Amino acid sequence: MPKSPSPDMYTRHQFCPDLKPGEKCFRVQRYNEGNFDETFHEHVPSRRISLDSEIEVLRALVGHCDGWPGTFILNSRLNNRRGGPSRYPSIVSHVTYPEAGVLRRYFSSGGATAWSDTVIAPGSFRQQVFVRRKR
Ligand SMILES: [Zn+2]
Repeated sequence: MPKSPSPDMYTRHQFCPDLKPGEKCFRVQRYNEGNFDETFHEHVPSRRISLDSEIEVLRALVGHCDGWPGTFILNSRLNNRRGGPSRYPSIVSHVTYPEAGVLRRYFSSGGATAWSDTVIAPGSFRQQVFVRRKR
């Protein structure tokens, strides 16, 4: 299990209120005239998708949402060797920790961003703090 980041590393950006341990939340946003429109939001059981497939889904969602033609889909997957068409467009990816116990994988290209949220540490995910009142 990855080491937990310190609390000030949490981005606290766009929590999914419905996220539960044992699920993955996939979302897509598209930049549109100054606003970000959410175009996709689905949950699947974590046991139904491998990490490789999760990454493939995120790449496909970005291309789909950004309206890529077939040549973009093909050329974006080329390696960096010389010869033939250039590798374009590129997808930028990174990992963040939006809240305690949650890992987020971001993929973006052009005006589209796709991400998945996974609860990686159920023991620290959305712990309620109960304060007993004195009577
Ligand atoms: Zn969600």
